[in-house]
Amino acid sequence: MKLGLKHSWAQLPPLMHTAVAPLPVANPYCLVFNRALATELGLDAKAVEAQAGLLFSGNALPDDAQPLAMAYAGHQFGGFSPRLGDGRAHLLGELIDSQGKRHDLHLKGSGRTPYSRGGDGRAAVGPMLREYLISEAMHALGLPTTRSLAVIGTGEPVLREDGALPGAILVRTAASHLRVGSFQYPGSRGDIDTLRALLDYTLARHYPAAATAAVPALALLQAVADQQALLIANWLRVGFVHGVMNTDNMALSGETIDYGPCAFLDEYDANKVFSSIDHQGRYAFMNQPLLAQWNLARLAEALLPLIHADADAAVQQAVAILEPFPARVQSHYAQHLRAKLGLPDAGQGADAVAQNLLQLMQHCGADYTLTFRALADVADDGPNAAQRQATGTATLQQQMAADPTGLQQWLQQWRAQLDAAPAAPGERSRAMRRVSPAYIARNHLVEAALASASTDADMAPFKALLQVVQHPYDEQPGQEAFALPPLPAQRVTRTFCGT
Ligand code: AMP
Ligand code: MG
Repeated sequence: MKLGLKHSWAQLPPLMHTAVAPLPVANPYCLVFNRALATELGLDAKAVEAQAGLLFSGNALPDDAQPLAMAYAGHQFGGFSPRLGDGRAHLLGELIDSQGKRHDLHLKGSGRTPYSRGGDGRAAVGPMLREYLISEAMHALGLPTTRSLAVIGTGEPVLREDGALPGAILVRTAASHLRVGSFQYPGSRGDIDTLRALLDYTLARHYPAAATAAVPALALLQAVADQQALLIANWLRVGFVHGVMNTDNMALSGETIDYGPCAFLDEYDANKVFSSIDHQGRYAFMNQPLLAQWNLARLAEALLPLIHADADAAVQQAVAILEPFPARVQSHYAQHLRAKLGLPDAGQGADAVAQNLLQLMQHCGADYTLTFRALADVADDGPNAAQRQATGTATLQQQMAADPTGLQQWLQQWRAQLDAAPAAPGERSRAMRRVSPAYIARNHLVEAALASASTDADMAPFKALLQVVQHPYDEQPGQEAFALPPLPAQRVTRTFCGT
């Protein structure tokens, strides 16, 4: 079967890729398939789904696939690896959707490549379903992200620390797989021709307006920084902790990429770290703006020779772009927080109220998602307002049980701001519910769903959770249990890459 694949990546200089085919597996079968995404991508969803196990395992690829592994470098937890690359992934080609937008079609867990180093080239069912679920949840939350088209079980075991686990391949789509590490690869080798070709390619694909700027490399840095500032602020809005913000895991498109030990906050904690491999707390929740800036500085380093022939002048121009970055994220986040408080047009007074709330939540260990959603109920003045207000207030009292006086004081500050910014009946709470989700992919539910899928081959809990997180802002009668924080015994405090 042909999928209409294009192959622009293969036109890049040879340093950037190696032609290599996915390795066939024992018994491929489709665990989950995203019909809506397939249709958006212009595919015949039914026909592709029927053959997904074959098409996406390497056992019988699409007829127009030209599989390759991409090369990149990267700083992992601060240490530079000059050569990473797709060690267990293959790009099959690119799909052009009905809007004319190009998407990489990519397999993860599809066998060894020349970039595998010591790895087996494979992936386990749990982590691949995890990426499927969380990337689709992020998309539904309105965040730019890679998407998941399918997860294919391989019928082969993979050996991990916990023993033999069922193997799987994720079929991922992305605006592209261009990463900070893609530029670091030719950059660290001093390969200016490849660097220049990569710059032209990236601008043509993602930022065509920047291609005509006086200094295109500088315009790229600015454009990527702009997108990352928006992205990271959105992560903060929904309480997302990426967990492995290495430079090979930061996409130049501004999409969230590489869902490993990521997690959504339960209780608010600015310093929250989930990943078992993040020993220093490098990628803690509120560190994410600074670490994104650090990654952008690595992109700037790679681009320096294309920015200015004089190195000092190049550095100066790059610094001027990077310096304001953390403040820009904070300013986007402050705007989100005002919207979450129902005060989208308010000024600095509202920002202080928001900061006071975060402090109170941190002190009380209040659930981030539940608290903001409860505020929408408290602020509700539409139909059934009295009942919603009572429920919202009860939730707040429960979440802030450690400091009832602090809660009362904060509510007074907030009310003063609300009174100063009147809105049409019911309108304020509706707007608040559009920026504060009720349903996130809660860690304890994710773990339970993945355990059922990989241990008992029971996909029902996964599909139920997926269904709920695909409509995160909607009230879903009967699904309220999915909105609740974990009981103490259910709390997930650590997450694992599972690679
Ligand atoms: P990640 O932590 O997923 O961003 O991966 C970092 C690097 O390790 C990338 O170059 C991956 O391709 C590679 N890698 C991760 N797991 C495996 C594996 N099981 N086999 C081969 N390469 C891997
Ligand atoms: Mg990666």
